[in-house]
Amino acid sequence: MPDPVFERIALVGVGLIGSSIARAAAEYGAAGSVALYDMSDEVRAKAAGLGLGEVADTLEAAVAGADCVILCVPVGALEAVAKAAVPHMKDGAILTDVGSVKKQAAGALFAADNGKVHIIPGHPIAGTEQSGPEAGFPTLFRNAWHILTPREDADEAYQAAVVRLSDFWTALGAKVETMEAGRHDRVLAITSHLPHLIAFNIVATAFDMETVEQGEVVKYSAGGFRDFTRIAASDPVMWRDVFLNNKEAVLECLGRFSEDLAALQRAIRWGDGDMLMREFTRARTIRKAIIDAGQDSGAVNFGRNEAVNGKAKP
Ligand code: NAP
Repeated sequence: MPDPVFERIALVGVGLIGSSIARAAAEYGAAGSVALYDMSDEVRAKAAGLGLGEVADTLEAAVAGADCVILCVPVGALEAVAKAAVPHMKDGAILTDVGSVKKQAAGALFAADNGKVHIIPGHPIAGTEQSGPEAGFPTLFRNAWHILTPREDADEAYQAAVVRLSDFWTALGAKVETMEAGRHDRVLAITSHLPHLIAFNIVATAFDMETVEQGEVVKYSAGGFRDFTRIAASDPVMWRDVFLNNKEAVLECLGRFSEDLAALQRAIRWGDGDMLMREFTRARTIRKAIIDAGQDSGAVNFGRNEAVNGKAKP
């Protein structure tokens, strides 16, 4: 096992992401020890039971002595947690986060700056629709992108901290890139935030139609709809905070999306098969590009895993 990148890390928020970092750091030897804190008594008890690390009773106790503090709480909670954590952190330690929105998260973290810690916002582009400490697993970040949005006007010590944090995520198996926070938010608005909004919406529409169609929407749910229900099962608090904090970029994408949807609607109404063929063929090439880039598997997927047939969950 290589030498740990950090002697000690502290994770605040022990849900899917926090617990996955704890597991991965132990599995790949990226941290000498892991301190944990969550505001929920129940989550702290579960984290202790799962052996995820040294569970502290207070935020202050968790972050004191850590070389790197990683905030794994919903985006809307970042500012308060960062302000509570920073005064108790070691001089020269790193404060980072995993929030899915970066401009607001960076503002929240930098608002807590006392000039003695290195604040480096971050976002692992990896996750599932599940939440809580039991949902995490050590391989979550393997081959996934991890985006850092560091300060640009930085001194040498800060740049060295960015390299160290990159080394930590690389040790967990991630591919690290740095990016300007606004650009991150525009890219993620179309690749992650809008697809989730569409999923929440289509599932809500189907739920309303369920009554009209007398239960047959769920009974005959096809692969396409089932894929949307999986995405729409994601944590409501997390997604509420994403939309409230990436408003501009999401509204911009939504405007474009609505115009394109109206064009498809018109093509269906007027029987414009050529237009439909053109658009669907173009979509297929994007799917192929994603598979070729190693971002997904091209394996046949009927939208059912073995758990549906009463076998073990994969
Ligand atoms: P999660 O499973 O719901 O875990 C979040 C944990 O943080 C919960 O245990 C929550 O406690 C706790 N918490 C909330 N406010 C807190 C506070 N003020 N102090 C201490 N603990 C607090 O959520 P998650 O999926 O791990 O998401 C965490 C972060 O990762 C979010 O910022 C999200 O944007 C980001 N992220 C998520 C994904 C994903 O796919 N899920 C992917 C990439 C990044 P309660 O349950 O009691 O509220």
